[in-house]
Parts: sequence; structure tokens; C-alpha cells
Amino acid sequence: MCYNPSMHKALTEVDPEIARLIEAEEKRQREKIRLIPSENYTSAAVLEASGTVLQNKYSEGYPGKRYYEGQQNIDPIEALAIARAKALFAVDHANVQPYSGSPANLAVYLAFCQPGDTIMGMGLPAGGHLTHGWSVSITGKYFRSVAYGVRKETGRVDLDEVRELAKKEKPKLLWCGGTAIPRTIDFAAFADIAKEVGAILVADIAHIAGLIAGGAHPSASAHADIISTTTHKTLRGPRGGMLMCKGQHAGAIDKAVFPGLQGGPHNQTTAGIAVALKEASTDAFKKYAHAIVENAQALATELSARGYDLVSGGTDNHLILVDLTNKEVPGKKAAQALDKAGLVLNYNSVPFDPRKPFDPSGIRLGTPAVTSRGMGPAEMRQIGAWLDRGVQAARTADDAALEKIAGEVRELTGRFPAPGL
Ligand SMILES: *Cc1c(COP(=O)(O)O)cnc(C)c1O
Repeated sequence: MCYNPSMHKALTEVDPEIARLIEAEEKRQREKIRLIPSENYTSAAVLEASGTVLQNKYSEGYPGKRYYEGQQNIDPIEALAIARAKALFAVDHANVQPYSGSPANLAVYLAFCQPGDTIMGMGLPAGGHLTHGWSVSITGKYFRSVAYGVRKETGRVDLDEVRELAKKEKPKLLWCGGTAIPRTIDFAAFADIAKEVGAILVADIAHIAGLIAGGAHPSASAHADIISTTTHKTLRGPRGGMLMCKGQHAGAIDKAVFPGLQGGPHNQTTAGIAVALKEASTDAFKKYAHAIVENAQALATELSARGYDLVSGGTDNHLILVDLTNKEVPGKKAAQALDKAGLVLNYNSVPFDPRKPFDPSGIRLGTPAVTSRGMGPAEMRQIGAWLDRGVQAARTADDAALEKIAGEVRELTGRFPAPGL
């Protein structure tokens, strides 16, 4: 069942312990229903490109301007990745070297800010990311960070609050996007605010890059000065990051990534990104992106009908945030029980959560991975029913009920093979 049997053969010989764990992980990914909205299944082609001899090469610099010789194959690989990113996201410039989403974001700070400068992003409890200035992150320690949130009644970003705060605080950077935002991000409105206060607008599309690529979420390219993304979430590439921008910022972004923050790029990842970007430009991917949203909405409808309290009342994208307060089960307890039932998701704070982040009131789930397996609305309704049974079982600590769900889940996942496994 593994994507590269010859490689597993060598690994089994050299390190059977690690080989066994990788095989067990493959089984877990095959048998369970993966609802963590930031996870996905990359294609076999992406996996193959990412596990190659490209790993053996140092390539500090950029195509045509390297500090090491022997770039005859690396330069065209990186050039292809860049060209495909520019075409897919309609941007002037792309840097495909950031090691992941967090280093990509750090490079943006390095490009435009001095330590102590004011920056503004969505607060973590409201759905923002750590790297948008949250206190425990370097971005909240080295910069003066101001957080905006969501309206209590609607669970949606309060653009009036963002404008007021921005006018008062005059941030150098304004971040939009996040990790637990179930609604469409209004890039145009954020751009207006950024313009009004002279801030650089950074759209962090880590979660929704695949939706944007497939036309299932509006694009940020006409509005944001900088676009930051991971490549491994809805975009379905290898673990990595990209920064894209208008031409005027190209030099600052490139300098910040290398030599500002990083050394040699991970060429095996660059190749995997290039392959993923090629896949993401197909009609099949457009269908995939729209199916993710259709599935999330089917699942949200099912959960609402079963009395679940969804933050913002539903979803426009791939992600659902559920406040479990009315079900009388804390998020962590629910998430741990659901994992036993073969339904993998994560506990999550909800806006205005009275509970602590390590034991919050909510769970976060999403449909990118199940949609990659070809599941549709009928399966989402079934998953909604299982989630409901699982949450009840969590409340009553009914392990037998969880076991029973896990068996039914295995029967379903057996009929929907995952890409790359
Ligand atoms: C996932 C995510 C990141 C960080 O990506 P890593 O690859 O985990 O470092 C940054 N911003 C947002 C909005 C994300 O969702």
C-alpha cells in the first residue's frame, strides 16, 4: 500500500522501528476520517517529488543567482514553481522558499518592520494565527501588537472595529486571514482600511489557498500588498510556504527570506510545490475546491439540525467551528473521544471563550481531506450523525459506543481510498 515500496524496503532494513511507525501512520490516515481543516492528502505525485535526491542539494540564493555551483536542475525546478504560483494566483512575484507558513510570515515582518513597530492582526481567540502578533509568538514579543476580533452576536470580523483600531493605532502591517475563520474574508474592505492608514496589507491565505486557486473563495491578489500561504493545507502540496506580492515589494520579500531569515531552500519541497501547483491549475482541482465548500455546508447543516451551535451560524468555506457549551462537553474531552471513534479533529477556542486555550469550549473541523477521498454530501450527513453520537458518548464516557462508531467509520473509509496512500 505504500507509495514507494523500494524506499520502504531500505528503511525497513535500516530502521525497522521508524518504518513500522510510518506504516502505522499510513494505516491511521487510511482508516480514520480526518476532519482537521488544516490537513489533507497530497497526491502520490507530490509525495514522490518531495522524497527525492533533490534533498541532497544546497541552493542558497535564487534561480540564476546562487552561491553554490551545480544548479543545472534546481534552477529550472524553482523557476517552474515560481511561474506556476504567479499564474495560478495572478500575482507579479512569488517566493517559494519559506520553510513553512510561520517562517513566511516572519519574513514579512523582517521585510517591512523594525522591532517595536506597531502591527495589527486578528486575535488568536477570535480565529487569527499565532504569527499575527499573538503574545506567546515572537511576533507578539518583538512588535507592538494590536488585535482585532469578531462581533459577539455574529461571530464575524467587525470591520468597523478594525477601521477604528487601525486609525487609532496606525499599524505598519495589517494582517487578514487566520486559522479558525468559517466565513469569506473581505480582502477589498481590508485593503481600503490599510490604504486609509498607510499600512501594508498582508493576506494570510494559509487555510484557503486551495479554495482561492480553485475559484471557491475570492482572490486576494488585487487587494493585498503581500500574500502569505502554506502549501500543505487546502492547496494539497508538501509542507511548505510561499510569499507572493506586487512587483514593488519583490526585492524586499526575497531579501527577507534569503539571506534575512533562511539558508538553503528545501529543493525537494520546491519540486513538490511545483507539482501541487500544476495539479491545482486543473479543472479537476476547481471541482475539488467547490466540493470542499459544498461538503462543509452539508456537514454544517447536519450539525445545526442536530442542535449544534456553530460559530457565525455556518460556513462559507472549508471550516466549521462548533461551540459545545450547550452539549455540556468541553472541546478537549469531545476531541479525544471522537478520535477513539475514528473521527479526527481538534479542540479549539471559540470567540469570547470563557475556558482556557488548552481546554476550550469548542471543536474545529473541516472538509479538505474527506473531499480529497471523493466523499460527498451524503457522507457528510453520515459523518454529522457519527459526530453527534460521538459527542453524546463523550458526555457519558461510553467507550463501547465510540468503538462501535470506529467500526462503522472503517467500513466507510474502506470504500473511499485516499490519494497518495
Ligand atoms: C497554518 C497557518 C500558518 C502557519 O503555518 P505552519 O506551516 O504551521 O508554520 C500561518 N498562518 C495561518 C493563517 C495558518 O493557518
